[in-house]
Amino acid sequence: MRQNMVSIVVPAYEEAANLQLLYQEVSAAMETVPDLRFELILVDDGSRDETWDVIQLLHDHDPRVKGVRFSRNFGHQAAVTAGYHYSSGDAVIAMDGDLQHPPALLPDMIAKWREGFDVVSMVREAAEHEPVLKSWTSRTFYRLINLLSDVPIRPGVADFRLLDRKVVRKLNSLKERGRFVRGLIPWIGFQETSIPYKPNPRHAGTTKYSVRKMLMLALDAVSSFSSAPLRMSFILGLTVNAVCLGLMAYALYNKINENKDLSEWASSFLTMVALNAVQMLMIGINGIYLARVFDEVKRRPLYIAEEELGLTRKRRKVRLSVAVATQRGR
Ligand code: UDP
Ligand code: MG
Repeated sequence: MRQNMVSIVVPAYEEAANLQLLYQEVSAAMETVPDLRFELILVDDGSRDETWDVIQLLHDHDPRVKGVRFSRNFGHQAAVTAGYHYSSGDAVIAMDGDLQHPPALLPDMIAKWREGFDVVSMVREAAEHEPVLKSWTSRTFYRLINLLSDVPIRPGVADFRLLDRKVVRKLNSLKERGRFVRGLIPWIGFQETSIPYKPNPRHAGTTKYSVRKMLMLALDAVSSFSSAPLRMSFILGLTVNAVCLGLMAYALYNKINENKDLSEWASSFLTMVALNAVQMLMIGINGIYLARVFDEVKRRPLYIAEEELGLTRKRRKVRLSVAVATQRGR
């Protein structure tokens, strides 16, 4: 196994105020591993602030800093995925651009990789500065996804991890669009280990994960790793039907034996509301999965890169080399 270079991939959406310090901390941490070269790939996810200018300055100062700029905001998961596509290291480390993932831990991750692990997941421990609501929603989310999903997803695992090149190659070969990278990693398998860490508070700026983005991520996670909601809608429909049939039988029995009517509005109104709610739920669940299928069959790329600094997309190189090889073959 070659262990000459590591790529560090950082998605950055409006992180202009953080990248300089991130670069300093990353290079300081990497100086403690002198036998390993590194490249720092900053993926500008369509920022409207000076993020791209900062990336250009850093690249001019140190060519080990490389950059990709998206044509618009494609989202965190797309930015991480682009980083994996563009990376060329023998291992690839993904981390956030706001210094919540401490760069000082890079040498520990690399040490685990050198022990022979293919995946080193960083597991977040509760930090005092974290808002209660955030840690509660995060815990509930992992509980729910693990209840529903077919592959176990470790709570507290965000997109802070090291992957060996062979895992990155497999990850890059997956075509699905609605990506939940932290679910795809356990699905791929290989030798995994984890290191606990305490996240820092965000260095500058505010969170780029709006409630809408978090909800979309949760929906992607559930719908790409579980078909349980589809089964649930079937079971729920069956249950409600059984209850309704029971109620009808009861009403009929009362009518025949005791000539008693159920209060008219109660029976019809409640049945109608209950059935409507179930139908809406089931249609909604089907809609979520249908939207996923629709998204996947369109086969649009996950992101559009408008500019590249010190990088070319790996796949292009492969295509070129295939073309050259076939020409030579002729
Ligand atoms: N991010 C991104 N695109 C987005 C939202 C976030 O590339 O649409 C990046 C962001 O710049 C950061 C990382 O993803 O490097 C995690 O986001 P953030 O720190 O805002 O999330 P939080 O830590 O609050 O969950
Ligand atoms: Mg953050």
